[in-house]
Amino acid sequence: MVHSSYIELSASALHNNIAFIRRHIGATTTLYSVLKGNAYGHGIEQILPLLLDAEVRHFAVFDANEAWRILNTTSEPCSIMIMGFIDNGDIRWAIEHDIQLYVFGYERLERIIGEARSLGKQARVHIEVETGFNRTGFAIEELPHLLDMLKRHSTSLSFDGLCTHYAGAESLANHQRILTQLEVFHKAIAITKHTGREPQHYHSACSAATIMYPSTSCDMVRIGILQYGFWPSEETHGQYLHNNPGDINPLRRVIAWKSKVMAVKSIATGEYVGYGSTFMASMPTTIAIVPVGYGYGYSRSLSNLGRVLIRGVRLPVIGLVNMNMLVVNTNEAPSVAVDDEVVLIGNQDEGSITVASFSELSNQLNYELLTRLPAHIPRRVVE
Ligand SMILES: *Cc1c(COP(=O)(O)O)cnc(C)c1O
Repeated sequence: MVHSSYIELSASALHNNIAFIRRHIGATTTLYSVLKGNAYGHGIEQILPLLLDAEVRHFAVFDANEAWRILNTTSEPCSIMIMGFIDNGDIRWAIEHDIQLYVFGYERLERIIGEARSLGKQARVHIEVETGFNRTGFAIEELPHLLDMLKRHSTSLSFDGLCTHYAGAESLANHQRILTQLEVFHKAIAITKHTGREPQHYHSACSAATIMYPSTSCDMVRIGILQYGFWPSEETHGQYLHNNPGDINPLRRVIAWKSKVMAVKSIATGEYVGYGSTFMASMPTTIAIVPVGYGYGYSRSLSNLGRVLIRGVRLPVIGLVNMNMLVVNTNEAPSVAVDDEVVLIGNQDEGSITVASFSELSNQLNYELLTRLPAHIPRRVVE
């Protein structure tokens, strides 16, 4: 059955972005590609083969289910790291599959040790340090005891990483807080080095941190939004331009979202469109009905605000966005007809609808808009 819209993934855009990230972080820094949130809405199963083609072999996810999806999509050897949730009942499975686990509490650590011992296999752990983000992570005072535990249980535990996460590196408003966190992380690194039991990697940087604070990159980075071709914020883009004058935008958006016109009609002056009375035609108006609504991730807050492309023309969404449909004013493109391509995100002729323009209108971050794109919309890979 044909879906009412589809998502295109550009393989060449992804290759371009990975090449850019590699140039930026340097050859000795390991790139972990972040695939949480269904690969930021792009689709884990669809984006993974493209990343493998680009020789990315390290992946970071939020939970065990996402790790499982990666394992089910490829048989190529790759490293998978769970940064967040795993149920106790799944820890054994994770160890069996060499999946790396963030550890931020003793209970989880004890469980991991127990399961690893009964399997006769090392579990791969990353110790997360609390540096001021105040989400998950061990207090720095716990480190000596933890490092001692890692040593005592070294037959069961492989010390793969010491890590932390920053509280909004994409915004200069958080500058002081980030610097304080970086300082605490450096202290944690020093304590660890002092014991002589070092992890394979120290890592703290997400996309924004690698751009805004290159010294956070250590020898491994966890990159999400950049690889999909988006800046974490306008400030991040600004900072990049400041450091690399002339390189206007090294990123290319991977995703496009398209549908087609389902119906067209003309309405008379004074008529209202759709539910309620949020849009009244002030002149004779032609409209097109597009079979995409908030039920597909097109936010209701884009009512009377959103823009789409049809026949290369940027046209306004009028009236309320419905669950399954939205209405477009086509007065600026009167020849619009049923079955014409509608671009919700992406390019058409010379026109472009960016996620950023879109998310400013609806007050959603790139991140939120992307991850709300439903998994059931079909994804197609294009060149
Ligand atoms: C999401 C996430 C990242 C990646 O963030 P981007 O801004 O998309 O690069 C890195 N580390 C952790 C812990 C995360 O949760």
